[in-house]
Amino acid sequence: MPELPEAEVAARQIRSRLLGAQVTDVWVGREDIVREGYSTVPWYRGAGLQSVERFGKSIVLGFTNDQVCRYVVAELGMTGLLLFQSVQTKSPQHIHVRLLFEGSSEPELCYWNPRRFGRLSLLDKTGLERYLARRFGVDPLLVSQPDFVRVLGERHGRLKSLLMHQQVIAGIGNIYANEILFRAGLHPNMQVGRLSVGKTERLHRIMRAVLEEAIACGGSSVRDFFAPDGTEGQYKRRHLVYGKGGQPCPNHCGGVIRRVQAERSAYFCPRCQSLRSTK
Ligand SMILES: [Zn+2]
Repeated sequence: MPELPEAEVAARQIRSRLLGAQVTDVWVGREDIVREGYSTVPWYRGAGLQSVERFGKSIVLGFTNDQVCRYVVAELGMTGLLLFQSVQTKSPQHIHVRLLFEGSSEPELCYWNPRRFGRLSLLDKTGLERYLARRFGVDPLLVSQPDFVRVLGERHGRLKSLLMHQQVIAGIGNIYANEILFRAGLHPNMQVGRLSVGKTERLHRIMRAVLEEAIACGGSSVRDFFAPDGTEGQYKRRHLVYGKGGQPCPNHCGGVIRRVQAERSAYFCPRCQSLRSTK
């Protein structure tokens, strides 16, 4: 948490409310939250917000000042949020960075993170290109069906681990990997090499449908996700298997959702997602 849908919801809100606004001040409470580029903090004062993009689970804010471009890359980690000032009421001690703006409806955007696994990087254009090339595989919402088939065909290992491998497919974490695989009827531990082209194409369709539906619902508020304006994501109500170990399978197959602790918990129906299934 947060995964692609939550990051996309945040990026869209920030884009709609802050694009074109000018930075009046930057406050950094903890220097170690800035992984790279701390010395460039003063540059951002006076810069204008020109772009807001999502890459995987990260949000990239693009600024210009005197025709120079620099970027703020926000990794949200397990618990990080980007919040507008209007919702900064809870635990302000976890706000590590504040960007103050003029010329927009929101006077502030802050980076809030109680567990501090996430980081911000302040990068120039070359630094951003290097950062993106190193960390991100294909985007699940943008990758074409043939490219998805090709990317999976080049890989070995277990299907769920691969879906969550950010350098292969960027943005899917544990919640959505479980939900996608259940809907696709595929076992989390299935070897990728056993997937037929037809099943891979179907997986591509389901992956995109799940993520787009989750974005439309504002993401999933599991633990503590809030959009920048403080709203909770409603997709949690549509989860079919995540967090539902021991409950009856929603397909009414008579099976019970199993929870298996691996690197992250896998939730699946052993009947609908059989390892031996050839359907
Ligand atoms: Zn089932």
